[in-house]
Amino acid sequence: MKVESLVTKEKREIEARSDSEKTIDPANLEMFEIARKAGVETAFDRVVKQEPKCPYCFSGLSCRNCAMGPCRITAKADRGVCGATGDVMVARGLLRNILGGAASHVDHARHVALTLLHAARGEAPYQIKDEAKLRNLGTMLGIPNAESMEVNKLAEQVAMRALEEIGATHANGGTWIKMHSTQERLETWSKLGVLPEGGMLPILEGMHRTSMGNDADPVNLILGCIKAGLADGFYGLHMSTDLQDVLFGTPKPKFSEAGMGVLEADYVNIACHGHVPILSEKIVEAAEALQEEAKKAGAKGINVVGICCTGNEILERQGIPQVGNELNSELVIATGALDAMVVDYQCIFPALVPAAQCFHTKIITTAPIVKIPGAEHIEFDEKRADEVAKEIVRRAIENYKQRDPSKVHIPKFKTELLAGFSVEALLEVLSKINSEDPLAPLVESIANGDIKGAVAIVGCNNPRVPHDLMHVELAKELVKRDILVLATGCAAHAHAKAGLMKPEGYKLAGERLQRVLKALGEAAGLEALPPVLHFGSCVDNSRINQLLKALAEKLGVAIKDLPVAASAPEYNTEKALSIGTWAVALGVTTHVNPLPRITGSEVVTNLLTKDAEQLIGAKFIHSPDPKESADMIEEVILEKRRKLGLPA
Ligand code: SF4
Ligand code: SF4
Repeated sequence: MKVESLVTKEKREIEARSDSEKTIDPANLEMFEIARKAGVETAFDRVVKQEPKCPYCFSGLSCRNCAMGPCRITAKADRGVCGATGDVMVARGLLRNILGGAASHVDHARHVALTLLHAARGEAPYQIKDEAKLRNLGTMLGIPNAESMEVNKLAEQVAMRALEEIGATHANGGTWIKMHSTQERLETWSKLGVLPEGGMLPILEGMHRTSMGNDADPVNLILGCIKAGLADGFYGLHMSTDLQDVLFGTPKPKFSEAGMGVLEADYVNIACHGHVPILSEKIVEAAEALQEEAKKAGAKGINVVGICCTGNEILERQGIPQVGNELNSELVIATGALDAMVVDYQCIFPALVPAAQCFHTKIITTAPIVKIPGAEHIEFDEKRADEVAKEIVRRAIENYKQRDPSKVHIPKFKTELLAGFSVEALLEVLSKINSEDPLAPLVESIANGDIKGAVAIVGCNNPRVPHDLMHVELAKELVKRDILVLATGCAAHAHAKAGLMKPEGYKLAGERLQRVLKALGEAAGLEALPPVLHFGSCVDNSRINQLLKALAEKLGVAIKDLPVAASAPEYNTEKALSIGTWAVALGVTTHVNPLPRITGSEVVTNLLTKDAEQLIGAKFIHSPDPKESADMIEEVILEKRRKLGLPA
């Protein structure tokens, strides 16, 4: 379809959507009217005001990388002022997006590594919660005596290695990528020349090569995208998960609840929003310690709830209930029951502040790189973590007294969920069936077709797409076809709210998958395992690679040959693009929606949706429709099964 037609079609669809077509979350539906009456404008309103979209930006055919522009490709101009073609603009724009995503995750990992370093040196009030994981990491990193060294000494060395590998400037492929990759992948990346030196250099190099007068070869630029995606996957996602598990514990399955109904009318409600557990874990602790102060202020206690990925982090380790994902974040404020929203970084809408100004809610920013005019800023310093967390919780308690009960409206909707599926936890469940060889039951079910394949549904919300609809309908379609779903990020919130993460949800699966879920669930002392397994936050997509690597090595095949796929069906962030590129680089075909800004270049579109398969064993696919997406994904899985000689 021509770009102009795509733009017009999207304009028509977005402008025509009634409230009930904007979201499938019943709490959001209930809150729309209340928010409007209170004067709160949300992303659902603003997305309409952005229509129609600029067709040049929509298709990637624009560039503002220097002051000779901005430039765009039109009927009379087939090059920018410097001579950059449309293919170059599209490839360069995509790479810059991926660099933004990779930078966010690598900086997240750097923050966790620094916290581990300060903790190990006794300078910050954190303890090592998973010593076994630390020792294992130390051994994989080749640190001598990692098995017996004093725990804090080892933590210091692991943290230093992490920081060195993030900043590496010349070594080709550090240890972090090697310890989490199969030999086959390392060789493929090496041959393509995309093995990242470390976390930061591919980002630095990527910014350099995309500035005016540098890389003008779209193919070479796409290789830069893969390199940046790999830097993200191993020096962002994997490193963050590894070190967070060491500091805060490796998740284990636990029950909790999701939906706006987790807010409590008589409690001080504090929502933790953002991405890292470094602050939110401390907020949970401080809230526990200050319950009595809340009671003195007239509340029954303190209720901490989670939003987005920091929510997922404290859910998977502490069982903290989830009030919503990204497109719930403004409407949660309109309940009038939120006393503070504490944010760290990433996915924090600046519009939270004007929304909060219509109520008594305090938006508390904490990161030196994330300040919003009108928010209260209490700078977080991990060396003073307990003190700062208490100060924030006390601010919420004080603010409870400002709450206007006549403005409180909490939707009743909430649903039970089971979260905390790390690979270690999954293996523990599987070991109840086969203690000698825990992966065997999983491999057997995949081989005989009881589990036809597995799909990771991940990523964000996007008001260009009806909220949660693609996440939920795609998952339902897949599990019905005996395809197991693993979820992270805002996708996981959507699945939880839709009941796909509670044990009874297994009834939504196909008959054969139901049998497996029941057998595994019973082994774990439950009615069944849910058909969608909560694998954590966005950085925890690393856990999915950990599982793929283990399966590939067990079966003696490459990851690209496994009957698996991934989908980011409502993505919005640059981080989702870099994670998706990493997934394709791993050999996992990845479905994305909405369309990335690449349609202006046939060269780039063909590379990513066709030729990538030859180069790397996987490609991007796109469909805006859940049923059609499931058909495409199932076909990818069936094709892999045919190649492996497995029954369909
Ligand atoms: S880099 Fe080239 S295409 Fe981009 S704005 Fe400058 S002159 Fe225009
Ligand atoms: S899934 Fe996307 S929107 Fe949600 S927290 Fe992660 S990056 Fe942000």
